Amino acid sequence: METMQSTREKLVEDGKLQTGGHYTAAHLGKMAGLDGYPMYLPSLKRTVTGKVFIKDLLDTTGSEISMNKVPPGFEMPFSHAHKHNEEVFIFLGGKGQMSIDDDIIEVEEGSMVRLEPKAVRSFRNTGDTELYFICIQTREKSLQGYTTEDGIKVDREINWQK
Ligand code: ZN
Repeated sequence: METMQSTREKLVEDGKLQTGGHYTAAHLGKMAGLDGYPMYLPSLKRTVTGKVFIKDLLDTTGSEISMNKVPPGFEMPFSHAHKHNEEVFIFLGGKGQMSIDDDIIEVEEGSMVRLEPKAVRSFRNTGDTELYFICIQTREKSLQGYTTEDGIKVDREINWQK
């Protein structure tokens, strides 16, 4: 099998990945171009397109996030659950359905679904256009401080001219 360039390597080569002392930033481009980052998935033993995992791009330490573009007519060929992680699906465009245990839920732009790890899930695109969503995976019950509880105000002047 030919060696595939990782999404990170591609972004670095294109100058689309920036790192600083305390951050990593990646610029994937428009959501419509998500299938420009094919990825080999060992668990499926095949290359998938339209899905970009963020952990290996941004070195996240508390979440795995994927950006997803799913063509019309696409149906996830299997169901899955998780061991420890809950998932939040945030739909950004298109129309679809999620199968969750015995329920079928309609989703569209603006829909958000949280799934407990044991929820047996799958999805399909039922619209005429691409279905776009972000999936955020985090350890269930790991959230401690949040929103303003975890934020601290820092007195530091911003230089936007840089
Ligand atoms: Zn999952």
